[in-house]
Amino acid sequence: MPTERKYREEIVRYGRMLHQRGFVAAMDGNLSVRLKGNRILVTPTCLSKGSMRPGDLVIVNMEGERISGHRNVTSEIGMHLLIYRLRPDVEAIVHAHPPTATGFAAAGMALTEPLVCEVVMGLGSIPLARYGTPGTSELAQTLEPYVPNYDAILMSNHGVVVYGDTLEHAYMKMETVEHFSQIALVTHLLGRQQPLKAGEIEKLLTARTKYFGAKIAAGLPLPQAPQKVS
Ligand SMILES: [Zn+2]
Repeated sequence: MPTERKYREEIVRYGRMLHQRGFVAAMDGNLSVRLKGNRILVTPTCLSKGSMRPGDLVIVNMEGERISGHRNVTSEIGMHLLIYRLRPDVEAIVHAHPPTATGFAAAGMALTEPLVCEVVMGLGSIPLARYGTPGTSELAQTLEPYVPNYDAILMSNHGVVVYGDTLEHAYMKMETVEHFSQIALVTHLLGRQQPLKAGEIEKLLTARTKYFGAKIAAGLPLPQAPQKVS
């Protein structure tokens, strides 16, 4: 099990990667890792994720109260705490605003079509949660129905949240969501889509169980048109 120091370095590294890839702008985004003893190591508010240092991070308890660190905790801490409560298997969370995926979220379009085999294997489908005001309990409430069954969620008119058993895996899911969004966008530009058939999805799900075991929470994709959330 990595030490707290290692986790701090990891958050700084993946924060820089989010910034370099343009997945966040200005002070956007936040990352966290679950520590021993019901504590969460999380990024502070009002700081670019591209220029954090390990000592900038904050530790909070499961009520979101700061127990260590000088800076103020991210205003999105409620979302992180909700996911850790609902998913004991989750050890790390990444939230960002990657432009293409956030474009789908701003257009009211979920990424539920099975267009790319490896995305079906890794994430299943990516639902769209309704809008909730950032920094309020409303935001966490909008995510609640999806957290138990999905590892990546689009947040209407806002961004994306992903999580996993390590920070590396959570970060990789963010890259996958943005990459898949770009592919989905190209299919829209081309004016046609050719979703995988039910039988093919079936085979992918069998393969997924072989690679990831039964513990992966990735909602099943359904061959259907994109959902519009009003
Ligand atoms: Zn945000």
